[in-house]
Amino acid sequence: MSGRSERTTPSDGGEAAIDVEGLELVYGDGTRAVDGVDMRVPRGEFFGFLGPNGAGKTTTIKVLATLLSPTDGEVRVNGFDVRTAARKVRASIGYMPQETSVDEELTARENIRFACESYGVPRGEHADRVADLLDLVDLADVADKRAEEFSGGMKKRLDAATALVHRPPLVFLDEPTTGLDPKARNRLWDYFERINDRGTTIFLTTQYLEEADQLCDRLSVILDGEIVAEGSPAELKRRVDGEILDVQVEGGETERERAATVAREFPAFGDVTVSVDDEGVSVTAETARKHGTDLLVALRDDGITVTGFDVRAPTLDDVFLAITGEELSADPDADSEMHETEGVVG
Ligand code: ATP
Repeated sequence: MSGRSERTTPSDGGEAAIDVEGLELVYGDGTRAVDGVDMRVPRGEFFGFLGPNGAGKTTTIKVLATLLSPTDGEVRVNGFDVRTAARKVRASIGYMPQETSVDEELTARENIRFACESYGVPRGEHADRVADLLDLVDLADVADKRAEEFSGGMKKRLDAATALVHRPPLVFLDEPTTGLDPKARNRLWDYFERINDRGTTIFLTTQYLEEADQLCDRLSVILDGEIVAEGSPAELKRRVDGEILDVQVEGGETERERAATVAREFPAFGDVTVSVDDEGVSVTAETARKHGTDLLVALRDDGITVTGFDVRAPTLDDVFLAITGEELSADPDADSEMHETEGVVG
């Protein structure tokens, strides 16, 4: 699936929303969390920062949001240097952290009003601003309910709204959908697209390739503190040469490993990448479609029972595997703890 990847990329005239050169961040204990990152995010772009747990995403966001000072490198946000103009940077950004900042004792309306006060929005503008944001994230109907009654997805929407009270031209969303079920996640995506459609630049970190694919104009992939790939989702997918043949096999790990060996040594495929998953093997090859059925015969001849197969175009998961040699561990549905409901959780 490709969401917005074929959209026209916003023009890169003038100053970038984010301009980073040679960023390094070493924590006090010596951990080199970010190691020489360069990136430029034009105004208006929906930019994705993708990587597994511990890759350096949050550390990078914290530097961009002036919560951490860079060890080395040049970092400008909305034209301001994060070292010398931190206050101006902070006034020009919205930040939705991983952990919710919603006050559960307050209603949705009160939470947004409180954020207006914290950000110094003129008092006379509060009512309009609150109404506009409640509308934007579809919480107008429950505006006067206390946030403790809200589902996880609703709290995240309220978080997104509070990050926008001062109408920042750039907003950071740090893994905003982690822990949400697919329905809640999909709903949040709609709001993020709306925010971006208003002209707001979005910097989103995520472990979910599907999310990046759906939302982002352009992506950088970070691994162990270094950028290992960048481009639009479509460009990145083109880096995977060929198509993917998924083959499900009967039996356990031994059978799957045997199937992988047969696929790797299958002469008709030439240059081939094979990975083993819980159900069987995935084979990436230029001739996956043409010679797929021949492989199935070879597997049968080797005594392996094939229970299903499918040939498909590469996803960003395949891209990540091709680039890093590692599976991106996050399964969007594996850690769904919060469940979206319509309206208020009772
Ligand atoms: P996650 O998805 O788990 O949030 P991430 O990509 O955001 O991962 P970071 O949180 O930026 O990654 O962490 C990058 C590296 O820095 C990791 O090795 C992490 O253990 C380490 N790290 C993070 N915070 C600190 C800290 N305060 N002190 C020392 N090391 C830290």
